[in-house]
This record gives sequence, structure tokens and C-alpha cells, in this order.
Amino acid sequence: MSNVRGVLFDKDGTLFDFYRTWGPVTEAAALAVAQGDPARAEIILTGSGKDPETGRYRPGSPIASGSNQEIAQLWADLLGRHDEAGEIYRQMEGMFLDRQRQGAVPVLDLPAFFGRLRDRGLKLGVATMDSELGAVTALDRYEARACLDFICGFDTGHGVKPGGGMVQAFARQMGIAAADVTVVGDSPHDIEMARAGGAGRAIGVLTGVSPREALLDYGADIVIDSIADLEAIL
Ligand SMILES: [Mg+2]
Repeated sequence: MSNVRGVLFDKDGTLFDFYRTWGPVTEAAALAVAQGDPARAEIILTGSGKDPETGRYRPGSPIASGSNQEIAQLWADLLGRHDEAGEIYRQMEGMFLDRQRQGAVPVLDLPAFFGRLRDRGLKLGVATMDSELGAVTALDRYEARACLDFICGFDTGHGVKPGGGMVQAFARQMGIAAADVTVVGDSPHDIEMARAGGAGRAIGVLTGVSPREALLDYGADIVIDSIADLEAIL
């Protein structure tokens, strides 16, 4: 990977451990949206991607890699409350933002990690299907925001995954070629985004929702256990 000049990271499942960060709050949000009814909560969780046997989220499902707006609409539909998606979204978003403030669980010491990558001359960005505010909030909490050259959410204006707009915006704003961008993510959507945006490399990690085989099937160039192994392969 001699020509890598920029690294674009997914957030949840990549910088932050997915299940340790989101498992408890997703269950709590579903229960709140289901008005405290555990059976209905389970219906909307399984209907949006939770495997009832393993408790894991299916790769590529809305709950694993959709936006909160998508999930809110789906939960509204599953509950037969089609016109209440906006209200459900606000309820969920509030709980998720609180979680970001109180304790998204990073995979490693993010400022130290980003600092070492920057010392190598790399431009660094985050591309997430969370909101831009959600991303900034989580990164601020770990004093990692200043380490990043680019932070993009689903609502920033560069499109959504698996489209390639976030990759192209990152490359454009950094003044580098998309082919010199390496994308790092835990979901098939990240790998597809890398391809759609013309990124040079797509690296999968296993701290999120997808098994190794799924990431390789979608065309990841390499799959590593976590971002802790990234420096060794760049
Ligand atoms: Mg992810």
C-alpha cells in the first residue's frame, strides 16, 4: 500500500466496538419505542436485523448499518404506526446521543492512534451513517476530533453508503486522488462505498457486525481483527 495518502474510517464497529457501544442502548431504544412491551420490542429488533438465536445483528441489515432515520421508519412500520416515524426517530436519536456522550467504547486509544498515523503524513477522515453531530459528539468525548481532517455523517450532504460520495468528498477536500484513499470498515456497506467511490483499498475489521467471510465476499482487499493491526499493514 505504498500510495496510501488518506484513510477514511467508518465509526461504529470500526473506531468504536459495535456491540459494547450499541448493544444495550439499541435494546433499550426498542423497548422504549415499543412502549415497554418486551415482545413488541423483540419483533422490531428481529424485523430490523437481529438474529434471535445469537443476538447478533445481520450484516447489511438496517440495524447494523442503516441510518437512524431508516431504522425509525422501519420500526414505525413494524408497529403499524406508519406516520409516527418522526417521533420515533427523535426518541431514538436522543437515546443514541446520550450514549455517545456517556460511553461509546473505542477499540483503542484513538488520539494516540490517529497521532501516529498523522505522523506518517496521512490524512484522516470518518464516514458514518450516524449523524454528523453524533460522530462529532463521540469523537469529542475521546479528544479525537482535532486529529481528524474530515467528519461526514449521513446528513452532511455527501450522500449515504453504499454510495461513493463520502469517499469522493474526502479525497476532494484533502486534495488527493480517490485511488490514494484506503477505506476501513466493519460492514459490507463500507466495502461497497470504497468500490463505488474509487478508493484504492478496502480493509475490513472484525470489531463490528460482519464475519470475515462476508467482508471478503463483498470484495475487501484484506480483513484484520481490528484497527490495532492497521499500522502494520499500511
Ligand atoms: Mg460500521
